[in-house]
Amino acid sequence: MIRKDWNPWHGCHKCSPGCLNCFVFYLDSKRDKDTNTITKSKTNFNLPLKKDRQGNFKIPPKSVVATCFTSDFFIEEADEWREDAWKIIKERNDVYFLICTKRIERFNKCIPLDWKDGYDNVIIAVTTENQEKADVRLPILIDIKAKKKFIFVSPILEYIDLNKYLATGKIDEVSVSGESYENARPCDFEWIKKIKETCDKYNVSFDFHQTGSNFIKNGKSYKINHFKEYSQAKKGMEYLEKIKRGEK
Ligand code: SF4
Repeated sequence: MIRKDWNPWHGCHKCSPGCLNCFVFYLDSKRDKDTNTITKSKTNFNLPLKKDRQGNFKIPPKSVVATCFTSDFFIEEADEWREDAWKIIKERNDVYFLICTKRIERFNKCIPLDWKDGYDNVIIAVTTENQEKADVRLPILIDIKAKKKFIFVSPILEYIDLNKYLATGKIDEVSVSGESYENARPCDFEWIKKIKETCDKYNVSFDFHQTGSNFIKNGKSYKINHFKEYSQAKKGMEYLEKIKRGEK
């Protein structure tokens, strides 16, 4: 599976404890960019429709397109641009658009008129960082109409009990990751283990995506180089699979 990024607009406002050390704010601060000013992309708003010199789409068929990961697809300032973004999404029905949001309460106001039960090529993912936010956002995610629904526990700040949400059979995948960069809050492998067990119980796909920079395993704290967060998480996943097979 090829993963691509598409950021039709950029910028966001902090709205939740998980936003405290948001990577978008962190990276913008290095470039003196004001993240709170939401701007439409001048060059890449229509990226999914762009073609190379050979006439092939720059985003190849079957790609998974991480959509609006430097903003929030449902942020208010983008209301005037979203309809055109939906048209692009509909036109590229040969790729999957992964839309990840902390503003799921705006979802029904922001969908196109022909959405019905959802476009086949759109995955709606809700991010949640603690139990309190999970209990606010996940009931909305369960209720909305979408062909695929993911939960991103990111950045994980505590163990989150997902039993009642996964028991609905309406969640396709759970992905967990820790927080990155200098001030990262701890990500404890015990929380990951327990969430994986919940996913296994309900036969929901699970991914431990990224350890974060401040990783705790067996009570011991590890500072993880940002570029190794993915490979370390992969090792964690292998370990969890061994537990599942009874090899640990
Ligand atoms: S909603 Fe996402 S992009 Fe926006 S500030 Fe929070 S963490 Fe950052």
